[in-house]
Amino acid sequence: MISFGESSIHFAFDLSAILVCFIVLLFSIIYQRTEKTQNKVFLVLVFVIMVNSVCELVTNYLQPICGRSRFLFSLMDYSRLLYFIIHAALCPVFFYYVTCVCGAMSKLNFRHNLFYAMTFVITETAVILNPITHWVYHFDEKGEYCRDFAIYAIYIAAAFYFFMAVLRLLFSWQALTARRRIALIYFMMIVVLGVFVQLIWIDLKVELLAESFGLLGIMLSVENEDDRVDPNTGVYNRRAFENDLNTCFINKTVLHLLCIKITNADITERVGSGNAYSVLNTTISGKLMELFPRYCIYKTSADTFVLTVFDKTDDELKHISERISDRFEKPWQVGDNEVMLNAVVMSANVPLRIGSTSDALYMADSPVPANNEKKILVDSDLDYLLRLSAVEKAIKRGFEEKTFEVYYQPTYCLDEGYPLHGAEALIRLHDTVIGHVYPGEFIPIVEKMGLIDELDDHVLREVCAFLETGIPAECGMECINVNLSVLQCIRPGFVERMIDIVSGFNIKKSMINFEITESVAANDYRVLSKTMNALKREGFLFSMDDYGTGYSNMQSIFSLDFDIIKIDKSILWSAEKGELGRIILENSVRMIRQMDRRILVEGVETSGQIELLRALGVDYLQGYYFSRPIPKKDFIELIKNKANKA
Ligand code: C2E
Ligand code: CA
Ligand code: CA
Repeated sequence: MISFGESSIHFAFDLSAILVCFIVLLFSIIYQRTEKTQNKVFLVLVFVIMVNSVCELVTNYLQPICGRSRFLFSLMDYSRLLYFIIHAALCPVFFYYVTCVCGAMSKLNFRHNLFYAMTFVITETAVILNPITHWVYHFDEKGEYCRDFAIYAIYIAAAFYFFMAVLRLLFSWQALTARRRIALIYFMMIVVLGVFVQLIWIDLKVELLAESFGLLGIMLSVENEDDRVDPNTGVYNRRAFENDLNTCFINKTVLHLLCIKITNADITERVGSGNAYSVLNTTISGKLMELFPRYCIYKTSADTFVLTVFDKTDDELKHISERISDRFEKPWQVGDNEVMLNAVVMSANVPLRIGSTSDALYMADSPVPANNEKKILVDSDLDYLLRLSAVEKAIKRGFEEKTFEVYYQPTYCLDEGYPLHGAEALIRLHDTVIGHVYPGEFIPIVEKMGLIDELDDHVLREVCAFLETGIPAECGMECINVNLSVLQCIRPGFVERMIDIVSGFNIKKSMINFEITESVAANDYRVLSKTMNALKREGFLFSMDDYGTGYSNMQSIFSLDFDIIKIDKSILWSAEKGELGRIILENSVRMIRQMDRRILVEGVETSGQIELLRALGVDYLQGYYFSRPIPKKDFIELIKNKANKA
């Protein structure tokens, strides 16, 4: 029978501790927080406290009644022994748990592990041998429990592990999120409080209950990863990736990032319903979790997953990359449809190739180069990222140090003596660190950085300032062509911005000819058409750039009010090479003529090409045959010479 009073309080404490531990175990299993090392160590911790509570409960229950029976006494004795065996493991396990949460497992080398294990093994051996040695505790003649010297050694060992856990926490402070810091401190404080209370009021055995409540707190905050998990896919989110990688850098952990980039994600829009993409993402995430349950899998953007892989050789990594790549050789199910996805797997060493969290995000966010044909990219394959990052930095410097410069390439009329027609303004970047960078390389990056408006405005201002000098008009130029990114043409307020810039100069608006590539216009046709008409009413001219490169179509030439169509150099060059090319060029010229638009051909490099174009009857020429794009100073000299000769 359990009497009321002291025993019943113990009974209530221990039973509560068991219940709390049981709930924590149950939730961990229900929420499947059992796969990763950290989860496993946590479960061991819960198990230790739970078994300890059971042992304490049995011991306390049997203690007053076991005098009557030898069997009960042995049972009580074994239960106490088991309590000590398990209890000696508590602080070491807690130390390992804190190490896991701090992401510092890799800091424990063989020697460290041996040292920590030795301390643990010695205390455990002392406990296990106690029935023979009685070094830890014994029972006197009256059957009363008495402590012996080794018990203090066990306490000291426990204090040592606890202290090491505190140190680990302090040293990894920066690597932890506020939530984790609070949870671990809460656990430590509640444990210390429990031990303290039990030390003062020796019969108030609250330590285990305090510890179980501490675990509950840890389960709700550290083990609960709701804020780290992408709710749709179940994999970790971008913030978790940043946090975990920061932790790795602080701890100087060596690892590999496997970045999976899906390069044709837009294909899902064409199959199935509107949520096809999210269905697909869930399928891919599920497959990755199934293939690699132990790795952390992150979704850093709509089409990118990243895996963090620790302690693997190059061969093992290659094998993992191949497994991922192979899976993408098979179709994916989206509703009733199957789709094939193209994925590129990039494998990069941290910190050798990826030196910071921002570098890692840079890799995850950068598009795969257009000419890439490999399915797996490693080491030197990733050099393009270094270049990309270097160009991005050069662009930022370009804006700060004003190292962007506008060059001019003249355009001529296809008449006797090639009279000057105008010029195209082309931007250049002269960087102090990486040297000259060409727009073909940096314009797409400027667009991605969201700075294209700023750059195009700068070019427009420079051109206006040049026109305001009156030199171009004096030399007989009709206009200067300014390239515009079509993306910004369709943004609200664009018309007003252009007018605003040009109004600041004393120039005729008809001397500005905007070049746009009709690329995204298919979707935003009406907007583009309205924008163009509004600017044309102000007097500006418009050219369609890069005709024949795949974006342009006859309908857009017809319905958008372009003054000049610029036939792309590739059309000219292929016309020179073969019959098919010539047919395309001839027909393009004829059709554009019938639509009553003027024609400029760019990329003119030889006199042979000029003769070909003369026979077809185009209006203007632009190309290296006449001049490359040159700095303003040289350009002024060129047009003045030309004007003097005329
Ligand atoms: P684009 O508008 O098609 O410009 C013509 C490109 O062809 C220029 O390259 C020019 O140097 C080159 N080119 C002209 N004649 C010849 C020739 O005879 N042979 C050869 N091989 N090339 C010739 P660039 O200056 O490197 O510009 C590349 C692209 O960058 C431009 O293509 C344009 O799309 C973009 N871009 C240049 N400046 C700007 C700008 O200020 N704003 C915007 N948004 N884009 C610009
Ligand atoms: Ca152009
Ligand atoms: Ca062009």
